[in-house]
Amino acid sequence: MSAGNTGGTRVAVVTGGGSGMGRAIVHRLARDGFAVAILDIDAANADKVAAEVREGGGTALAVGAADVSDRAKVDAAIGRVRAELGPVLVLVNNAGITGFREFLSITEEKWRRIMAVNLDGPFHCAQAVLPDMIDAGWGRIVNISSSSAQGGQQYMAHYVASKAGLIGFTKSLALEFGPKGITVNTIPPGFIDTPMMRESERRGMFGGTVEDHAARTPVRRPGTPEDIAAACAFLVSDEAGYITGQIIGVNGGRNT
Ligand code: NAP
Repeated sequence: MSAGNTGGTRVAVVTGGGSGMGRAIVHRLARDGFAVAILDIDAANADKVAAEVREGGGTALAVGAADVSDRAKVDAAIGRVRAELGPVLVLVNNAGITGFREFLSITEEKWRRIMAVNLDGPFHCAQAVLPDMIDAGWGRIVNISSSSAQGGQQYMAHYVASKAGLIGFTKSLALEFGPKGITVNTIPPGFIDTPMMRESERRGMFGGTVEDHAARTPVRRPGTPEDIAAACAFLVSDEAGYITGQIIGVNGGRNT
């Protein structure tokens, strides 16, 4: 029996699990035998994904209206997960929002909202679940950052700054919690076909279509939510126990 295996099913929390790559991560972790809690600001989507998992024979709990930027809501949500499923041993900080604006037009309000969701959210969620992981002597945190934080992205200074912060956050937690059996890694996705990406295309944020971008991507296709879920499934497995503090790019070769 491996560390952290208490004999029962391990519990994973996926934020933003009601859409896009979060939804794919939920399905993949449920297939891999985790009981999965879906924390999403959109309660209807969280319910829908939880129902899909249960129809497939998995265990899922929807915790809707869980705004990760709100400390009290996060604490209440994690309290409910703990009470209904058990201690949380895996956290995937996936919920995020984007923005596209010339730097001089970014309002303070927009700057603060992006930071609140993309950076404060992982801070709140990690503080809420780490005590469970420390008790178990085993834990896995995966932070979904962005390839834009590796190279920069014009008109997205607020978003890129939040995601670059998440990379530093990842490295720092990895150092602090490695001795306790907890790994912390980040996946910076690049060009993944999700509702967020299609909305960016619709708003002209690409300077072209998804197909134009695919033609410039080494593997010649957009990524799928399942590509991210596969990397995430590996990072939360027992086998990945010697990998921590790492940036695992999943981007079709766009950033190396
Ligand atoms: P998505 O389809 O928009 O899914 C994100 C989910 O998070 C949505 O269900 C969204 O709800 C939810 N959410 C938003 N704000 C929240 C909050 N405050 N609390 C809880 N849940 C919240 O996006 P995605 O493309 O799958 O993106 C997932 C992650 O990957 C994000 O962190 C994103 O920044 C990152 N990423 C995506 C790409 C890409 O190519 N798609 C590239 C790099 C990084 P609503 O729909 O109601 O807002």
